[in-house]
Amino acid sequence: MIGAMGGRSRHAWLVILALVLALGCAGPQIAPQTAAPPPAPTAQPATAPGGPASDLLNAVLWMQRSVEYKANALTAFALARIRLDQALEDRNWTAAPKEQTGAYQSLPPAIVLDIDESILDNSGYQAWMTLKGTSFDPKTWNAYVNTVTSQPIPGAVEFANYAASKGVKVFYVSNRTAEEEPATRKNLEKLGFPMGGDVDTMLMTRKKPDWGSAKGTRRAYIARSYRILINVGDNFGDFVDEYRGTEAERLKVMEEHTARWGREWIMIANPSYGSFESAPFRHDFKLSDDEKRRLKRAVLDAWPGP
Ligand SMILES: [Mg+2]
Repeated sequence: MIGAMGGRSRHAWLVILALVLALGCAGPQIAPQTAAPPPAPTAQPATAPGGPASDLLNAVLWMQRSVEYKANALTAFALARIRLDQALEDRNWTAAPKEQTGAYQSLPPAIVLDIDESILDNSGYQAWMTLKGTSFDPKTWNAYVNTVTSQPIPGAVEFANYAASKGVKVFYVSNRTAEEEPATRKNLEKLGFPMGGDVDTMLMTRKKPDWGSAKGTRRAYIARSYRILINVGDNFGDFVDEYRGTEAERLKVMEEHTARWGREWIMIANPSYGSFESAPFRHDFKLSDDEKRRLKRAVLDAWPGP
């Protein structure tokens, strides 16, 4: 027993000795690669060095700076082109199921494009709001529109011109105001969008008395003279007039049209604003930013945590 224990004890000492030697040898080799420990963090200054917190930051960062956003938009417009070719071949095809009535099959073809965040990228305005820590205001928005500096959404100019090259009339159905139309027209022209020739293809909100922010009346106006093949938008309201309901109501309407998405209805991603954002606070824009944020947080399906 004693001999056996003595043997284990010797063995243990040998192991320790080997470890000491190994560490002794390794020391000089690893020492030059070991950086000095970073200095302990100093106290945070009173104002956050990252700037004011903004609920918009990640959305704007994604839309303005990411290759993922650009690839996503190119994907949508590549699909739109395929669908346009199919629609031209199928006389019964329409992207305005509610508004397209009568013998529409023989009408000349058209497409409907929303403008903001569907074909024009206004991320410069969104980025300004993010950095400034402020929110949308018609006055600052109007000033931005008048700079005529909106950029094209990737794939949009090419898609619109492809449609025009096939004899398809390109209509712009936008909730920009009639007052903003001249600058908007200039912006689209500058980027090379087809402008409709002798047909007024700029259908801004309130340009006619019954053209409200819901776009059904404007689609009906186009559908009287054209067969609408494709509708492109970034907001549910670009496709249906029932977009200002609760989240559950919006989901129900969206699902009623499941077969249209990616066929005659092409949705461009916009995580920075839209009726998706206001649905949790019942589209009540008079609420304070804090209250809106509270209601948005309240609808999240969250894991209870560890
Ligand atoms: Mg839009």
